[in-house]
Amino acid sequence: MQFNHTEEIIYKVILKNDLFLYYKPNEVMGFCESCPNYGKIWTCPPYEREVIHTFNPFDYAIIIGFKGKDFFKLKKESTVYLHELEGMNGNVSESNFTTLVAGNCEICESCGKSEGQPCLFPDLMRYSLESVGFHVSEICDAVLGESLLWQTEHPKYMAVAGILLEEKALDAMVEKMHSSFGDLVRKGSHD
Ligand code: SF4
Repeated sequence: MQFNHTEEIIYKVILKNDLFLYYKPNEVMGFCESCPNYGKIWTCPPYEREVIHTFNPFDYAIIIGFKGKDFFKLKKESTVYLHELEGMNGNVSESNFTTLVAGNCEICESCGKSEGQPCLFPDLMRYSLESVGFHVSEICDAVLGESLLWQTEHPKYMAVAGILLEEKALDAMVEKMHSSFGDLVRKGSHD
């Protein structure tokens, strides 16, 4: 994939259990409640079913920070990248990993939820780390060694995404990431 807005990519592989050190749903839901998307998008809380349990089969998490100048362009570019990565790894419904995109789903111009409809593209919609209760600022500081600079509801220079996966998929996934990230990539400074 050609990256047009991403200037640097930082990633770190951690145990899924270590990611759960930053699972702080009560605190994070407080932030979400003040967001204009709260309750209006199927990938934003509150949820009708518990999403976090769908991560039970996974062993590892790859946290990925896409850095550049414009958060919204980074968000879109990183989401396209993650969908491409899924395609490179076969059918996602049968795979041993799942991706978490940066921020809310933007596949439809207007989310089905706000129209009282079910999700229009359930195979494509992805949750974000924050929408399921992870404290992304703390993850960035502690895992990537980067501070998120917030302006109103979004960070300024970095879109943060993740991949949760089984151990058997880890080496192949990291290899695929490296082959598509090229010179943009560096590992998290807390490696
Ligand atoms: S795919 Fe469309 S309907 Fe589904 S969550 Fe995303 S924006 Fe909403």
